Amino acid sequence: MLLINCPWCGERTQSEFAYVGDANVVRPDPDTVSDQEWINYIYIRSNPKGVHDELWQHIAGCRCFVKVRRDTVSHEIIGTAAPAGKIDGREA
Ligand SMILES: [Zn+2]
Repeated sequence: MLLINCPWCGERTQSEFAYVGDANVVRPDPDTVSDQEWINYIYIRSNPKGVHDELWQHIAGCRCFVKVRRDTVSHEIIGTAAPAGKIDGREA
């Protein structure tokens, strides 16, 4: 069973969470970005093998977003934090 430590609720099963996406994507300014850069922001994502920072939402709990550092090969969760927080441990 995969456990995710919500910074607000504590350790909960993964089934209480929904995967949202890559935690490293930064929204560009729509007034200054090119159409191609906007398309890349909306649709293009990397699919890394190994340690990756992801956003999850605690949908069956506090409904807050949680940044999760996870190994995409072993599914090991290395750490969690608030979306703007820092995760200690292996770097993504
Ligand atoms: Zn929570």
